[in-house]
Amino acid sequence: MDLVIRNARSFPEGAAVALAVQDGLIAWVGPDAEAPAAARVIDAGGDTLLPAFTESHVHLFLGGTALGQLNLAAVSDTASFHSALRRFAETLAPGEFLCGYAANYEMLGPGTRPDRHALDAAVADRPVFITSTDYHAAWANTAALQLAGILSGAETPPGSEVVMGPDGLATGELREGAAMELVRRLTPTGGRDSTAMIGQEPPGTPDAAMRARDKATILRACHELARHGITSAVNMDGNLYQAGLFTELAEELPIRVKLPMNLTEDQDKARVAALIAQAQAAPVGLLEFGMIKMFMDGVYDTWTAHVVGGYPDDPAHDGPRLISATAFARLCTMADAAGLQIAVHAVGDGAVRAVLDGYQAARTANGPRDSRHRIEHIDTITEADLPRLRDLGVMASMQPVHPPGSAGLPLEPTISIMGRARWPTAFPWARIAAQGTPLAFGTDWPVSPLDPLHCLHCAMARRPWAPGMPDQRLHLADALAAYSAGGAYLGFAENRRGQLRVGMQADVILVTGSLTALAERADAARLTLTLREGEVIWQA
Ligand SMILES: [Zn+2]
Repeated sequence: MDLVIRNARSFPEGAAVALAVQDGLIAWVGPDAEAPAAARVIDAGGDTLLPAFTESHVHLFLGGTALGQLNLAAVSDTASFHSALRRFAETLAPGEFLCGYAANYEMLGPGTRPDRHALDAAVADRPVFITSTDYHAAWANTAALQLAGILSGAETPPGSEVVMGPDGLATGELREGAAMELVRRLTPTGGRDSTAMIGQEPPGTPDAAMRARDKATILRACHELARHGITSAVNMDGNLYQAGLFTELAEELPIRVKLPMNLTEDQDKARVAALIAQAQAAPVGLLEFGMIKMFMDGVYDTWTAHVVGGYPDDPAHDGPRLISATAFARLCTMADAAGLQIAVHAVGDGAVRAVLDGYQAARTANGPRDSRHRIEHIDTITEADLPRLRDLGVMASMQPVHPPGSAGLPLEPTISIMGRARWPTAFPWARIAAQGTPLAFGTDWPVSPLDPLHCLHCAMARRPWAPGMPDQRLHLADALAAYSAGGAYLGFAENRRGQLRVGMQADVILVTGSLTALAERADAARLTLTLREGEVIWQA
């Protein structure tokens, strides 16, 4: 044997076990006392042995960028906002853009919403650009708006908006990617990290220095995943530029990456054909394609989630759907016929329905196959559409860190904007798992914190938003399965990964502390080792 891990604990039994690796595969698992000899021995010190995590929805380029930005997740009042921004500004060169992320919509206090004046009050002598926690909105200060030439407003495509104030000037709030890009392209990344999110290529032709910088950013993100026990990731945004960067990085990647290409309705025929051709490209090293990503809507906090039956505060508004029914059915049918897997962002119950309709159209046109098309998020779904997930063989890709009240997210304004009538089927992991719909977990990092152990805590500890609402908590074993076997299944890799079985790839982690206590405390367990195909890619 090449390697044996001795003195580990099995989950959930807690028995003393060992695992041996030969040629990157699990060659033996059994009682520690019977462990075979090996060239190398790792003493697990009594830590729990688990299959490594699959992160089913992540944004590596944006995440790598965020590692160098100001994290505002913990800010919830004006004083802490001011001190966080001013302290971070001291680390920057004069005039350099101050970029923050993970900002809650009510980061300045309950009932508030940031605007450029609030940002100016903290930092006015340099441009400031702060992304909301869901990456669907951003706030810019006056200096940044002036630099972008949008202080007096700008035309943006439907679904996005430079929000205007009663004074005829921009408030500083930018809703959805196309509006956010107007400022983001001026930040140090040049917007190259986010253009894939809106289905475009970076502006201009990035030079060699930019490409090198961008590859380093992506690689840094991949190592961050390895550090958290993740050996496979689905990078939920992709364009031809990223495909090029990842392909050049393929032999250096510490983890497996799947890169879907992002299709939008406004792309012309040639671009769609180029993206589909890229998605059909063969795997290179640890890099795989084979997928299409689309966005059907936005999020509740900006009233851009596409809903059935309007918003409680505006029943006539149902939120924009980002792809028309005809175009979506056409794109789904085309991608499905090309043998590709489709993943679509759907937060509003209307968006989930629209995606199901498109998948149904593709199935009618092309006939049923093992397509494993996915819906990303499913923040809300109607009672009527829940069984359609199962009937159409659709996969659920969900994020236990996303419900308001989880992972430090405040309940408001989200749950009021969403409306009480939608709460009983909001983020319905337990319902979805119980009806047999394949379920995989992820964090959408940098939208939410990356740590899978923290995410498992959120899956187990979630509280109903009001008395009488259904309990959507998951048991530890089910939550772990969604992070391992579930993720492998969504990635067509269930025969290669996701379980500690002989013949599977030796993607294995060790965890110290108590996994069961994660239900109470997010810090009850901690990662100590990540192995990908028997290779140590991270060790505490
Ligand atoms: Zn995402």
